[in-house]
Amino acid sequence: MSYDDNNVFAKILRGEIPNRTVLENEHVLAFHDINGQAPTHVLVIPKGKYVSFDDFAAHASDAEIVAFVRAAGQVASEEGVAPSGGGEGFRIVSNAGKNGVQEVPHFHLHVLGGRWLGRMLKKVDD
Ligand code: 5GP
Repeated sequence: MSYDDNNVFAKILRGEIPNRTVLENEHVLAFHDINGQAPTHVLVIPKGKYVSFDDFAAHASDAEIVAFVRAAGQVASEEGVAPSGGGEGFRIVSNAGKNGVQEVPHFHLHVLGGRWLGRMLKKVDD
């Protein structure tokens, strides 16, 4: 799948749509999800044009990957949910493609926490 320059996160990166930024550096932007599913629900995205996790893993530079992973950890710490900092825990999710129910085709992690998140998958479809 080729990258769609009109996806909503591309628009956020171009400043065409506002966001509530949590963290930003050369390679990464993290911002609050517009429809938060938990007290902490932050989206972490690379600034580069990657469609999904597999695209990012295969094509991003080492510097982008390091910056991205460190930023996700920093978000968890700053949100106060990281166990290493005494927080009560979090979950990172990355939906990819149709079966992964990915809505926005720009690679992103969801960092979720601040409440009991339940088991990872429900048995019923929704
Ligand atoms: P996906 O289903 O692709 O893994 O998740 C996309 C996420 O992007 C959803 O949780 C949705 O709420 C969020 N989202 C969609 N549009 C916007 C937007 O314009 N701003 C922000 N902050 N989040 C958005």
